[in-house]
Amino acid sequence: MSACLFCKIAAKQIPSTAIYEDDDVVAFLDIHPAAPVHFLIVPKEHIATLADCTEHHAFLLGKMMLLAPRLAAEQGCNYVVDAQGVASGGFKTLFNTGPDGGQEVYHLHLHVIGGPHPWRG
Ligand code: AMP
Ligand code: ZN
Repeated sequence: MSACLFCKIAAKQIPSTAIYEDDDVVAFLDIHPAAPVHFLIVPKEHIATLADCTEHHAFLLGKMMLLAPRLAAEQGCNYVVDAQGVASGGFKTLFNTGPDGGQEVYHLHLHVIGGPHPWRG
């Protein structure tokens, strides 16, 4: 059995607040949210970091990126431009990679962080 936290969450061996699942990825709420909306999009395959991805992972990475705005909208931080061209809403997308990137969990994950002030501190 894998000792990896996000492998265990993907396999439902550890509980999470899931918001999405398909054959390739799961998405769940971050346990320590940095903003009103903060969830993680995580591949079911164990890949340690973005730097470990290869061309083999291009479809998976594209799927993760395309899921971000869709799930962000479902979670309440939709990006819209009104008829006058005024934009509102939105979110941040973030991959932390390695020690200098602030990565704590070494299983690839895409942070989606939104709300009025989607940044830490
Ligand atoms: P990173 O620093 O990019 O590796 O981010 C890891 C993220 O995982 C942090 O934002 C944590 O709050 C989050 N996290 C850690 N454990 C859990 C958990 N059991 N369920 C949900 N999110 C978690
Ligand atoms: Zn893993």
